[in-house]
Amino acid sequence: MSDWKPIIGLEIHAELLTQSKMFSNCPVVDSVTAAPNTAVDPVSLGLPGTLPVINMQAVEYAMMVGLALNCEIPPVNQFARKSYFYPDLPKGYQISQYDRPLCVNGWVDIELNNGETRHIRIRRAHLEEDTGKLTHINDDSLVDYNRAGVPLLEIVTEPDIHSAEEAEAYARKLRSILQYLGVNSGDMSKGVLRLEANVSVMHKDDTGFRTRTEVKNLNSIRSLYRSIDYEIERQIKAWENGEGVRQATMGWDENRQRTVVQRYKESADEYRYFPEPDLPILEISWEWVESVRGGLPELPDVKRDRFMQELGLSHYDAHTITVEQAVAHYYEDVLAAGAQAKTTANLLLGSLFALCNRDSIEREDIPTRVTAANLAKLAKLVDAGTINKNTAATLIVEMWDSGGDPDQIVKEKGLAQVSDTDAISGAIDEALAGAGDMLDRYAAGEDKLFGPIMGMVMGALKGRGNPQVVRELLTQKLQALRNQ
Ligand code: ADP
Ligand code: MG
Repeated sequence: MSDWKPIIGLEIHAELLTQSKMFSNCPVVDSVTAAPNTAVDPVSLGLPGTLPVINMQAVEYAMMVGLALNCEIPPVNQFARKSYFYPDLPKGYQISQYDRPLCVNGWVDIELNNGETRHIRIRRAHLEEDTGKLTHINDDSLVDYNRAGVPLLEIVTEPDIHSAEEAEAYARKLRSILQYLGVNSGDMSKGVLRLEANVSVMHKDDTGFRTRTEVKNLNSIRSLYRSIDYEIERQIKAWENGEGVRQATMGWDENRQRTVVQRYKESADEYRYFPEPDLPILEISWEWVESVRGGLPELPDVKRDRFMQELGLSHYDAHTITVEQAVAHYYEDVLAAGAQAKTTANLLLGSLFALCNRDSIEREDIPTRVTAANLAKLAKLVDAGTINKNTAATLIVEMWDSGGDPDQIVKEKGLAQVSDTDAISGAIDEALAGAGDMLDRYAAGEDKLFGPIMGMVMGALKGRGNPQVVRELLTQKLQALRNQ
C-alpha cells in the first residue's frame, strides 16, 4: 500500500436546457451549429442600463437537480456578483451565487466497476450565467457571445473522491441524472458539461488536508481521468522530493498528456463578491419545492431497482443498462416489442456492448446500428428456439454490420435451428461413422469424449442443431453402443 491517499473534490458546470437565457428572454441556441453572435441581446452583451430578470424555468431545473442529488433547498436564495475581467465576460462581472446557493448538503451514491459503491457528499449547487466563447486563430482572438448568459448550474462535491476511477464514476452518474431529468443533453463534445478537479494527496501520518491544485475546463471524462491520475502522481513525487505543491489553477494539455500551471490561485477576496443589487432576494416556498419533487421522473437508481425486481435482472446487469438513459430507453423499447428481459439483456450486454468497444461506438448510438425492433425480433427467434445461441451471436454481428432484419437473414441464409429428429439422427450417424477409434474409447468408458463427439455432430449440422435435441439423441445412441 502506498503511504499516500488521493483527496479529490469535483466541480461540474452544467448548462441548463432552457429556451432563454438566465437573466433575459434572449434565446439559447446550439453553441456549435449556430452562427456566432446571432443569439445576443443587450442584457447578455452587458450593455449599460440593462437590468437582469431571473429565469424561473432555470431555477426550477436547478431545483430538480438539487432534489435528485438529495439536497436541501433553503427558502432564501441570493445572487451575487463575481468580478473579474475577461473578453468573454462583457459586464466585467458574472452573476453567480455565493453564500446563499440554491441547493446544499446533498449526496449521491456511485458504483465502481468491481460492483462496490461509494457515498459522495454534495456540498452545494448554485446557479450562474455562462460566459461567451473565445476562439484563437493565429494572432487573432474572436469572441462569440451566443453562450453569454446561458443558465449554468455549478455542482460541487465534498472532497470525498479518492481515485480517478471514482471521479469517472461520479461524472458518469451525474451526467446520467442530468439526462434523466431532461435538463442537460450530456453532450460533452458541445461543452454543455465542463468538469473541474480539485486534487491533493494526504500522507498516512497527516491529520489534515494538504495544498490542492485545481484542473479546470476538462471537456471529456477521459481527460478528467487522465489529469487526476497525472496530478496524483506528480504531487506525490513533489512532496517526496521536498519540492512541495503550490496552490494553482491548472489546465490539461491533451497533446502532451500532462497538467500545466495557468496561474497561481486567486482567493475569493479577489473576486470581490457582493450581493447582486439588480436582483431581488429569491424566496422559494415549501410548496414549490414539494411540487417539483413530486414531478421528478424515474431516476437511474430507481429504474435499476425496478429492473431487478420486476424483470429479475442481476444488480450488475440492471446497473449497466440503466446507467445511461439512452441504453435504458433502448432496452425498454425492445421489451415493449415483445422480447424477453433476460434474453435481451444477454444480447445487449454480451454482444452489442462488445461491438461498441470493437468499433469505438458510444453505447447511446447502438440504435443507429441495430434498431430496437430488430433486436426484439432476434431475441424472439432465440426464445422460440428458431435459432440457437451460437447462431444468435454470429447473426447479431451481421445485423450490426449490415443493419439487416434478422428474420430475413435467417430465411435467406437458412440459419434456422434444426430440431427435426430425423435430420439430427442422420447427422449423428454421419458423425459417428467418421469418429474412428473415439467410439471404441467412449464405449470403453472415456466419458470426456462426449464433448468432442457432440462437436462433430454440430459440425455436421453446420452449427445449427438444437443443442438440447442433439444431446438427447446422441446420449441415447452412445448409451446403446456401451450396452452392446
Ligand atoms: P473554493 O471556494 O476556493 O473553490 P472550496 O473549499 O469551496 O474552494 O472547494 C472547492 C472544491 O475543492 C470542492 O469540491 C472541495 O471538495 C474541494 N477541496 C477542498 N479542499 C480540498 C483538498 N485539500 N483536496 C482536494 N479537494 C479539495
Ligand atoms: Mg473552484
